[in-house]
Amino acid sequence: MDPQLESVFDEVLRRNPGEAEFHQAVREVFDSLGPVLRKHPQYVEAAVLERICEPERQIIFRVPWVDDADRVRINRAFRVEFNSALGPYKGGLRFHPSVYQGIIKFLGFEQVFKNSLTGMPIGGAKGGSDFDPRGRSAGEVMRFCQSFMTELYRHIGQYTDVPAGDTGVGGREIGYLFGQYKRITNLYESGVLTGKGITWGGSLVRTEATGYGTVYFAEHMLGTRNESMHGQRVLVSGSGNVAIHAIAKAQELGAEVLTFSDSSAYVIDERGVDLDLLRQIKEVERGRAADYVARRPEARLVEDGRVWDVPATVALPCATQNEITKDDARRMVGNGVAVVAEGANMPTTSEAVALFQQAGVLFGPGKAANAGGVATSALEMQQNASRDSWSAEYTEERLAGIMEGIHDRCLETADEYGEPGNYVLGANIAGFTKVADAMIALGVV
Ligand code: GLU
Repeated sequence: MDPQLESVFDEVLRRNPGEAEFHQAVREVFDSLGPVLRKHPQYVEAAVLERICEPERQIIFRVPWVDDADRVRINRAFRVEFNSALGPYKGGLRFHPSVYQGIIKFLGFEQVFKNSLTGMPIGGAKGGSDFDPRGRSAGEVMRFCQSFMTELYRHIGQYTDVPAGDTGVGGREIGYLFGQYKRITNLYESGVLTGKGITWGGSLVRTEATGYGTVYFAEHMLGTRNESMHGQRVLVSGSGNVAIHAIAKAQELGAEVLTFSDSSAYVIDERGVDLDLLRQIKEVERGRAADYVARRPEARLVEDGRVWDVPATVALPCATQNEITKDDARRMVGNGVAVVAEGANMPTTSEAVALFQQAGVLFGPGKAANAGGVATSALEMQQNASRDSWSAEYTEERLAGIMEGIHDRCLETADEYGEPGNYVLGANIAGFTKVADAMIALGVV
Protein backbone atom coordinates (compact mmCIF):
# COMPACT_ATOMS: atom_id res chain seq x y z
CA MET A 1 0.00 0.00 0.00
CA ASP A 2 1.18 3.54 -0.82
CA PRO A 3 2.68 5.25 2.33
CA GLN A 4 0.15 8.10 2.24
CA LEU A 5 -2.69 5.59 2.16
CA GLU A 6 -0.97 3.51 4.83
CA SER A 7 -1.09 6.35 7.35
CA VAL A 8 -4.78 7.01 6.67
CA PHE A 9 -5.40 3.27 6.97
CA ASP A 10 -3.62 3.15 10.36
CA GLU A 11 -5.98 5.86 11.53
CA VAL A 12 -8.97 3.82 10.29
CA LEU A 13 -7.73 0.84 12.34
CA ARG A 14 -7.28 3.02 15.42
CA ARG A 15 -10.70 4.64 15.12
CA ASN A 16 -12.66 1.46 14.41
CA PRO A 17 -11.24 -1.24 16.67
CA GLY A 18 -12.48 -4.80 16.21
CA GLU A 19 -14.29 -4.16 12.93
CA ALA A 20 -12.44 -6.68 10.76
CA GLU A 21 -14.85 -6.62 7.79
CA PHE A 22 -14.72 -2.82 7.62
CA HIS A 23 -10.91 -2.88 7.72
CA GLN A 24 -10.91 -5.48 4.93
CA ALA A 25 -13.21 -3.38 2.72
CA VAL A 26 -11.12 -0.23 3.22
CA ARG A 27 -7.84 -2.03 2.60
CA GLU A 28 -9.22 -3.53 -0.58
CA VAL A 29 -10.11 -0.08 -1.96
CA PHE A 30 -6.89 1.55 -0.75
CA ASP A 31 -4.80 -1.15 -2.45
CA SER A 32 -6.10 0.24 -5.76
CA LEU A 33 -5.72 3.97 -5.09
CA GLY A 34 -1.93 4.55 -5.09
CA PRO A 35 -1.72 5.52 -8.80
CA VAL A 36 -4.77 7.79 -8.45
CA LEU A 37 -3.14 9.87 -5.72
CA ARG A 38 0.04 10.23 -7.75
CA LYS A 39 -1.99 11.48 -10.69
CA HIS A 40 -4.42 13.66 -8.69
CA PRO A 41 -2.74 15.32 -5.68
CA GLN A 42 -5.93 17.31 -5.02
CA TYR A 43 -7.44 14.26 -3.33
CA VAL A 44 -4.67 14.28 -0.73
CA GLU A 45 -4.78 18.07 -0.28
CA ALA A 46 -8.52 17.99 0.36
CA ALA A 47 -8.18 15.06 2.81
CA VAL A 48 -10.67 13.09 0.74
CA LEU A 49 -9.36 9.74 1.98
CA GLU A 50 -9.73 10.64 5.64
CA ARG A 51 -13.22 11.97 5.00
CA ILE A 52 -14.42 9.11 2.82
CA CYS A 53 -13.57 6.54 5.53
CA GLU A 54 -15.52 8.32 8.24
CA PRO A 55 -19.31 7.90 7.90
CA GLU A 56 -21.23 11.17 7.82
CA ARG A 57 -23.61 9.87 10.47
CA GLN A 58 -24.01 6.62 12.44
CA ILE A 59 -27.19 5.76 14.25
CA ILE A 60 -27.48 2.93 16.79
CA PHE A 61 -30.82 2.18 18.37
CA ARG A 62 -32.76 -0.27 20.50
CA VAL A 63 -35.59 -2.29 18.98
CA PRO A 64 -37.98 -3.65 21.62
CA TRP A 65 -40.69 -6.07 20.50
CA VAL A 66 -42.93 -8.77 21.93
CA ASP A 67 -42.63 -12.37 20.72
CA ASP A 68 -45.46 -14.88 20.29
CA ALA A 69 -44.91 -16.20 23.82
CA ASP A 70 -45.52 -12.66 25.15
CA ARG A 71 -41.88 -12.20 26.04
CA VAL A 72 -40.23 -8.82 25.56
CA ARG A 73 -37.25 -9.04 23.21
CA ILE A 74 -34.53 -6.50 22.55
CA ASN A 75 -32.41 -6.18 19.44
CA ARG A 76 -29.77 -3.68 18.43
CA ALA A 77 -30.13 -1.84 15.14
CA PHE A 78 -27.92 0.38 13.00
CA ARG A 79 -28.08 2.83 10.16
CA VAL A 80 -24.75 4.07 8.87
CA GLU A 81 -25.21 7.06 6.56
CA PHE A 82 -21.85 6.91 4.91
CA ASN A 83 -21.66 9.43 2.11
CA SER A 84 -24.16 11.76 0.44
CA ALA A 85 -21.93 13.57 -2.07
CA LEU A 86 -23.75 12.07 -5.07
CA GLY A 87 -27.31 11.89 -3.77
CA PRO A 88 -29.45 10.80 -0.83
CA TYR A 89 -28.02 7.96 1.25
CA LYS A 90 -28.99 4.67 -0.37
CA GLY A 91 -28.47 1.09 0.68
CA GLY A 92 -30.14 -1.95 2.14
CA LEU A 93 -31.08 -3.24 5.57
CA ARG A 94 -29.75 -6.59 6.77
CA PHE A 95 -31.46 -8.65 9.46
CA HIS A 96 -29.09 -11.39 10.56
CA PRO A 97 -27.65 -12.49 13.91
CA SER A 98 -24.11 -11.71 12.70
CA VAL A 99 -24.90 -7.99 12.26
CA TYR A 100 -22.81 -5.54 14.29
CA GLN A 101 -21.32 -2.12 13.60
CA GLY A 102 -18.35 -3.54 11.62
CA ILE A 103 -20.55 -5.46 9.16
CA ILE A 104 -22.82 -2.48 8.55
CA LYS A 105 -19.82 -0.18 8.08
CA PHE A 106 -18.19 -2.53 5.58
CA LEU A 107 -21.43 -2.79 3.63
CA GLY A 108 -21.99 0.98 3.78
CA PHE A 109 -18.44 1.68 2.60
CA GLU A 110 -18.82 -0.72 -0.33
CA GLN A 111 -22.16 0.83 -1.14
CA VAL A 112 -20.61 4.30 -1.61
CA PHE A 113 -18.40 3.07 -4.45
CA LYS A 114 -20.98 0.69 -5.89
CA ASN A 115 -23.61 3.39 -6.08
CA SER A 116 -21.13 5.77 -7.68
CA LEU A 117 -20.30 3.15 -10.32
CA THR A 118 -23.95 2.80 -11.34
CA GLY A 119 -23.90 6.39 -12.61
CA MET A 120 -27.14 7.07 -10.72
CA PRO A 121 -27.55 10.01 -8.29
CA ILE A 122 -27.33 8.03 -5.02
CA GLY A 123 -25.07 8.26 -1.98
CA GLY A 124 -24.15 5.25 0.16
CA ALA A 125 -25.54 3.80 3.40
CA LYS A 126 -26.40 0.52 5.07
CA GLY A 127 -28.39 -0.56 8.06
CA GLY A 128 -29.80 -3.55 9.83
CA SER A 129 -30.15 -5.44 13.03
CA ASP A 130 -28.92 -8.56 14.82
CA PHE A 131 -32.53 -9.80 14.72
CA ASP A 132 -32.70 -13.40 13.46
CA PRO A 133 -35.81 -13.87 11.29
CA ARG A 134 -35.28 -17.63 11.08
CA GLY A 135 -38.07 -19.51 12.82
CA ARG A 136 -40.00 -16.32 13.58
CA SER A 137 -43.69 -16.13 12.74
CA ALA A 138 -45.01 -13.53 10.28
CA GLY A 139 -46.55 -11.69 13.25
CA GLU A 140 -43.23 -11.52 15.07
CA VAL A 141 -41.46 -10.26 11.94
CA MET A 142 -44.16 -7.62 11.49
CA ARG A 143 -43.93 -6.39 15.07
CA PHE A 144 -40.15 -6.28 14.83
CA CYS A 145 -40.31 -4.25 11.58
CA GLN A 146 -42.84 -1.85 13.09
CA SER A 147 -40.70 -1.24 16.15
CA PHE A 148 -37.58 -0.86 13.98
CA MET A 149 -39.32 1.78 11.85
CA THR A 150 -40.72 3.59 14.89
CA GLU A 151 -37.16 4.75 15.50
CA LEU A 152 -35.76 4.77 11.96
CA TYR A 153 -38.48 6.93 10.40
CA ARG A 154 -37.02 10.16 11.83
CA HIS A 155 -33.73 9.59 10.03
CA ILE A 156 -34.95 8.70 6.53
CA GLY A 157 -36.86 10.33 3.66
CA GLN A 158 -36.95 10.37 -0.13
CA TYR A 159 -34.40 13.24 -0.21
CA THR A 160 -32.44 12.10 2.85
CA ASP A 161 -31.93 8.36 3.09
CA VAL A 162 -33.66 5.58 1.16
CA PRO A 163 -33.29 2.06 2.63
CA ALA A 164 -34.06 -1.20 0.79
CA GLY A 165 -33.59 -4.90 1.47
CA ASP A 166 -30.53 -7.07 1.96
CA THR A 167 -30.09 -10.45 3.66
CA GLY A 168 -33.20 -11.22 5.74
CA VAL A 169 -35.14 -8.25 4.38
CA GLY A 170 -37.31 -8.95 1.33
CA GLY A 171 -40.61 -7.75 -0.06
CA ARG A 172 -42.57 -8.82 3.02
CA GLU A 173 -40.37 -6.86 5.42
CA ILE A 174 -40.24 -3.78 3.15
CA GLY A 175 -44.07 -3.88 3.20
CA TYR A 176 -44.22 -3.88 7.01
CA LEU A 177 -41.60 -1.13 7.18
CA PHE A 178 -43.39 1.03 4.59
CA GLY A 179 -46.75 0.53 6.30
CA GLN A 180 -45.35 1.75 9.61
CA TYR A 181 -43.55 4.72 8.00
CA LYS A 182 -46.76 5.74 6.26
CA ARG A 183 -48.75 5.46 9.46
CA ILE A 184 -46.31 7.48 11.59
CA THR A 185 -45.71 10.26 9.09
CA ASN A 186 -49.13 10.35 7.41
CA LEU A 187 -47.32 10.56 4.08
CA TYR A 188 -47.56 8.22 1.11
CA GLU A 189 -43.90 8.89 0.39
CA SER A 190 -43.21 6.14 -2.12
CA GLY A 191 -39.58 7.13 -2.66
CA VAL A 192 -38.57 6.57 0.98
CA LEU A 193 -37.96 2.83 0.54
CA THR A 194 -37.21 0.65 -2.49
CA GLY A 195 -38.02 -2.96 -3.13
CA LYS A 196 -41.71 -2.23 -2.65
CA GLY A 197 -44.49 -4.44 -4.04
CA ILE A 198 -45.63 -3.75 -7.59
CA THR A 199 -49.12 -2.62 -6.60
CA TRP A 200 -47.88 -0.05 -4.08
CA GLY A 201 -45.04 1.82 -5.76
CA GLY A 202 -42.50 -0.88 -6.51
CA SER A 203 -40.67 -1.40 -9.77
CA LEU A 204 -40.88 -4.43 -12.01
CA VAL A 205 -37.56 -6.27 -12.21
CA ARG A 206 -36.28 -4.87 -8.86
CA THR A 207 -36.57 -8.29 -7.20
CA GLU A 208 -34.69 -9.96 -10.03
CA ALA A 209 -32.20 -7.16 -10.61
CA THR A 210 -29.22 -8.13 -8.42
CA GLY A 211 -29.08 -11.72 -9.72
CA TYR A 212 -29.85 -10.79 -13.31
CA GLY A 213 -27.30 -7.98 -13.22
CA THR A 214 -24.58 -10.29 -11.89
CA VAL A 215 -25.15 -12.68 -14.79
CA TYR A 216 -25.17 -9.82 -17.32
CA PHE A 217 -21.87 -8.72 -15.85
CA ALA A 218 -20.44 -12.26 -16.10
CA GLU A 219 -21.65 -12.43 -19.71
CA HIS A 220 -19.70 -9.26 -20.53
CA MET A 221 -16.63 -10.61 -18.75
CA LEU A 222 -16.84 -13.79 -20.82
CA GLY A 223 -17.35 -11.64 -23.92
CA THR A 224 -13.84 -10.19 -23.50
CA ARG A 225 -12.62 -13.74 -24.21
CA ASN A 226 -15.09 -14.28 -27.02
CA GLU A 227 -17.13 -16.61 -24.87
CA SER A 228 -20.62 -16.45 -23.39
CA MET A 229 -22.67 -18.00 -20.58
CA HIS A 230 -24.06 -20.53 -23.04
CA GLY A 231 -22.86 -24.02 -22.17
CA GLN A 232 -20.82 -22.93 -19.11
CA ARG A 233 -20.86 -25.08 -15.98
CA VAL A 234 -21.86 -22.63 -13.28
CA LEU A 235 -21.54 -22.78 -9.48
CA VAL A 236 -23.94 -20.66 -7.46
CA SER A 237 -23.75 -20.38 -3.68
CA GLY A 238 -26.69 -19.19 -1.61
CA SER A 239 -30.39 -19.69 -2.21
CA GLY A 240 -31.81 -16.28 -1.38
CA ASN A 241 -33.10 -13.61 -3.70
CA VAL A 242 -29.76 -12.94 -5.42
CA ALA A 243 -28.93 -16.63 -5.96
CA ILE A 244 -32.39 -17.55 -7.28
CA HIS A 245 -32.44 -14.83 -9.93
CA ALA A 246 -28.81 -15.42 -10.88
CA ILE A 247 -29.73 -19.07 -11.49
CA ALA A 248 -32.78 -18.02 -13.52
CA LYS A 249 -30.84 -15.67 -15.81
CA ALA A 250 -27.88 -18.04 -16.19
CA GLN A 251 -30.24 -20.84 -17.25
CA GLU A 252 -32.06 -18.49 -19.63
CA LEU A 253 -28.70 -17.76 -21.29
CA GLY A 254 -28.06 -21.49 -21.73
CA ALA A 255 -25.72 -22.18 -18.81
CA GLU A 256 -25.82 -25.35 -16.70
CA VAL A 257 -26.25 -24.35 -13.06
CA LEU A 258 -25.01 -27.17 -10.86
CA THR A 259 -25.24 -25.97 -7.27
CA PHE A 260 -26.85 -23.81 -4.62
CA SER A 261 -26.45 -23.72 -0.84
CA ASP A 262 -27.80 -22.47 2.45
CA SER A 263 -26.25 -22.28 5.90
CA SER A 264 -26.98 -25.99 6.49
CA ALA A 265 -25.51 -27.63 3.37
CA TYR A 266 -25.01 -27.38 -0.36
CA VAL A 267 -26.77 -29.21 -3.15
CA ILE A 268 -25.19 -30.55 -6.32
CA ASP A 269 -27.60 -31.29 -9.11
CA GLU A 270 -25.75 -32.47 -12.22
CA ARG A 271 -28.93 -32.35 -14.29
CA GLY A 272 -29.15 -28.63 -13.61
CA VAL A 273 -30.89 -26.95 -10.66
CA ASP A 274 -34.69 -27.26 -10.83
CA LEU A 275 -35.55 -23.61 -10.36
CA ASP A 276 -39.28 -24.10 -9.82
CA LEU A 277 -38.65 -26.60 -7.05
CA LEU A 278 -35.98 -24.39 -5.45
CA ARG A 279 -38.33 -21.39 -5.49
CA GLN A 280 -41.18 -23.42 -4.04
CA ILE A 281 -38.97 -24.57 -1.15
CA LYS A 282 -37.20 -21.29 -0.46
CA GLU A 283 -39.81 -18.66 -1.29
CA VAL A 284 -43.07 -20.41 -0.47
CA GLU A 285 -42.20 -22.98 2.19
CA ARG A 286 -39.13 -21.16 3.59
CA GLY A 287 -37.50 -24.61 3.82
CA ARG A 288 -33.93 -25.96 3.73
CA ALA A 289 -31.55 -27.50 1.18
CA ALA A 290 -32.48 -31.02 2.42
CA ASP A 291 -36.10 -30.46 1.36
CA TYR A 292 -34.93 -30.03 -2.24
CA VAL A 293 -33.01 -33.29 -2.29
CA ALA A 294 -35.94 -35.11 -0.69
CA ARG A 295 -38.02 -34.28 -3.75
CA ARG A 296 -35.28 -34.67 -6.36
CA PRO A 297 -33.47 -37.95 -5.76
CA GLU A 298 -30.90 -37.37 -8.51
CA ALA A 299 -29.53 -34.35 -6.60
CA ARG A 300 -27.04 -34.79 -3.77
CA LEU A 301 -26.92 -33.02 -0.40
CA VAL A 302 -23.40 -32.29 0.88
CA GLU A 303 -23.23 -31.24 4.51
CA ASP A 304 -19.49 -31.17 5.10
CA GLY A 305 -18.15 -29.69 1.88
CA ARG A 306 -18.16 -26.53 -0.17
CA VAL A 307 -19.94 -25.59 -3.37
CA TRP A 308 -16.48 -24.63 -4.59
CA ASP A 309 -15.34 -28.28 -4.67
CA VAL A 310 -17.41 -28.93 -7.80
CA PRO A 311 -15.64 -28.70 -11.19
CA ALA A 312 -17.03 -25.78 -13.22
CA THR A 313 -16.05 -22.85 -15.43
CA VAL A 314 -17.98 -19.93 -13.87
CA ALA A 315 -18.55 -19.16 -10.17
CA LEU A 316 -21.24 -16.82 -8.86
CA PRO A 317 -20.91 -16.49 -5.07
CA CYS A 318 -24.33 -15.21 -3.95
CA ALA A 319 -24.44 -16.08 -0.23
CA THR A 320 -22.49 -13.81 2.12
CA GLN A 321 -19.13 -12.20 2.90
CA ASN A 322 -15.85 -14.17 2.99
CA GLU A 323 -17.26 -17.47 1.73
CA ILE A 324 -14.41 -18.13 -0.74
CA THR A 325 -11.11 -18.69 1.06
CA LYS A 326 -7.66 -19.02 -0.44
CA ASP A 327 -7.94 -22.84 -0.31
CA ASP A 328 -11.28 -22.71 -2.09
CA ALA A 329 -9.78 -20.41 -4.73
CA ARG A 330 -6.86 -22.77 -5.29
CA ARG A 331 -9.20 -25.71 -5.80
CA MET A 332 -11.46 -23.69 -8.09
CA VAL A 333 -8.54 -22.73 -10.32
CA GLY A 334 -7.46 -26.38 -10.42
CA ASN A 335 -11.02 -27.41 -11.31
CA GLY A 336 -11.25 -25.05 -14.29
CA VAL A 337 -13.02 -21.94 -13.00
CA ALA A 338 -12.13 -19.08 -15.38
CA VAL A 339 -14.63 -16.39 -14.35
CA VAL A 340 -15.86 -15.29 -10.91
CA ALA A 341 -18.58 -12.63 -10.58
CA GLU A 342 -19.65 -11.69 -7.06
CA GLY A 343 -23.42 -11.56 -6.53
CA ALA A 344 -22.96 -11.12 -2.77
CA ASN A 345 -21.00 -8.33 -1.09
CA MET A 346 -17.33 -9.26 -0.56
CA PRO A 347 -17.85 -13.05 -0.68
CA THR A 348 -14.20 -13.55 -1.63
CA THR A 349 -11.40 -13.07 0.91
CA SER A 350 -8.54 -10.76 -0.10
CA GLU A 351 -6.10 -13.69 -0.35
CA ALA A 352 -8.51 -15.53 -2.66
CA VAL A 353 -8.93 -12.46 -4.89
CA ALA A 354 -5.13 -12.19 -5.21
CA LEU A 355 -4.89 -15.88 -6.07
CA PHE A 356 -7.56 -15.60 -8.77
CA GLN A 357 -5.86 -12.61 -10.32
CA GLN A 358 -2.43 -14.28 -10.33
CA ALA A 359 -3.96 -17.34 -11.97
CA GLY A 360 -5.50 -15.25 -14.76
CA VAL A 361 -9.09 -15.85 -13.62
CA LEU A 362 -11.37 -12.94 -14.55
CA PHE A 363 -12.63 -11.58 -11.25
CA GLY A 364 -15.63 -9.21 -11.05
CA PRO A 365 -15.93 -7.61 -7.58
CA GLY A 366 -19.36 -7.25 -5.99
CA LYS A 367 -19.36 -3.48 -6.06
CA ALA A 368 -19.46 -3.76 -9.85
CA ALA A 369 -21.02 -7.17 -10.54
CA ASN A 370 -23.93 -6.91 -8.07
CA ALA A 371 -24.69 -3.22 -8.59
CA GLY A 372 -27.77 -4.05 -10.65
CA GLY A 373 -29.89 -4.29 -7.51
CA VAL A 374 -29.24 -0.83 -6.22
CA ALA A 375 -29.25 0.59 -9.76
CA THR A 376 -32.78 -0.73 -10.19
CA SER A 377 -33.65 0.76 -6.81
CA ALA A 378 -32.62 4.09 -8.32
CA LEU A 379 -34.93 3.33 -11.26
CA GLU A 380 -37.69 2.65 -8.74
CA MET A 381 -37.00 6.09 -7.19
CA GLN A 382 -37.25 7.64 -10.66
CA GLN A 383 -40.63 6.02 -11.22
CA ASN A 384 -41.83 7.15 -7.79
CA ALA A 385 -40.67 10.73 -8.41
CA SER A 386 -42.59 10.89 -11.69
CA ARG A 387 -45.57 8.87 -10.35
CA ASP A 388 -45.06 6.47 -13.21
CA SER A 389 -44.47 2.75 -13.62
CA TRP A 390 -42.47 1.24 -16.41
CA SER A 391 -42.88 -2.04 -18.26
CA ALA A 392 -40.72 -5.02 -17.35
CA GLU A 393 -39.12 -4.91 -20.83
CA TYR A 394 -38.11 -1.26 -20.53
CA THR A 395 -36.85 -1.64 -16.95
CA GLU A 396 -34.78 -4.68 -17.79
CA GLU A 397 -33.37 -2.90 -20.83
CA ARG A 398 -32.28 -0.03 -18.56
CA LEU A 399 -30.73 -2.54 -16.12
CA ALA A 400 -28.86 -4.29 -18.94
CA GLY A 401 -27.57 -0.94 -20.21
CA ILE A 402 -26.39 0.07 -16.74
CA MET A 403 -24.54 -3.24 -16.25
CA GLU A 404 -22.82 -2.87 -19.61
CA GLY A 405 -21.85 0.68 -18.64
CA ILE A 406 -20.37 -0.46 -15.32
CA HIS A 407 -18.49 -3.28 -16.99
CA ASP A 408 -17.01 -1.00 -19.63
CA ARG A 409 -16.16 1.72 -17.11
CA CYS A 410 -14.21 -0.83 -15.03
CA LEU A 411 -12.22 -2.00 -18.05
CA GLU A 412 -11.57 1.49 -19.44
CA THR A 413 -10.32 2.66 -16.05
CA ALA A 414 -8.15 -0.43 -15.66
CA ASP A 415 -6.67 0.27 -19.13
CA GLU A 416 -6.08 3.92 -18.26
CA TYR A 417 -4.07 2.87 -15.21
CA GLY A 418 -2.06 0.27 -17.11
CA GLU A 419 -3.72 -2.87 -15.68
CA PRO A 420 -5.91 -4.24 -18.47
CA GLY A 421 -8.53 -6.74 -17.30
CA ASN A 422 -8.20 -5.78 -13.60
CA TYR A 423 -11.86 -5.25 -12.67
CA VAL A 424 -11.00 -4.70 -9.00
CA LEU A 425 -8.71 -1.79 -9.77
CA GLY A 426 -11.10 -0.40 -12.39
CA ALA A 427 -14.14 -0.55 -10.09
CA ASN A 428 -12.33 0.97 -7.13
CA ILE A 429 -10.79 3.83 -9.07
CA ALA A 430 -13.86 4.66 -11.16
CA GLY A 431 -16.12 4.46 -8.10
CA PHE A 432 -13.75 6.54 -5.97
CA THR A 433 -12.95 9.37 -8.38
CA LYS A 434 -16.58 10.27 -9.00
CA VAL A 435 -17.35 10.53 -5.28
CA ALA A 436 -14.05 12.29 -4.55
CA ASP A 437 -14.61 14.93 -7.24
CA ALA A 438 -18.10 15.63 -5.92
CA MET A 439 -16.79 15.91 -2.36
CA ILE A 440 -14.19 18.45 -3.42
CA ALA A 441 -16.78 20.44 -5.39
CA LEU A 442 -19.07 20.58 -2.35
CA GLY A 443 -16.34 22.04 -0.11
CA VAL A 444 -15.29 20.88 3.34
CA VAL A 445 -18.58 19.48 4.58
N1 GLU B 1 -28.66 -4.47 -0.51
C1 GLU B 1 -28.43 -4.25 -1.91
C2 GLU B 1 -26.97 -4.02 -2.17
O1 GLU B 1 -26.14 -4.59 -1.51
C3 GLU B 1 -29.38 -3.22 -2.52
C4 GLU B 1 -29.44 -1.90 -1.86
C5 GLU B 1 -30.53 -0.96 -2.42
O2 GLU B 1 -31.23 -1.33 -3.33
O3 GLU B 1 -30.59 0.15 -1.89
O4 GLU B 1 -26.57 -3.31 -3.06
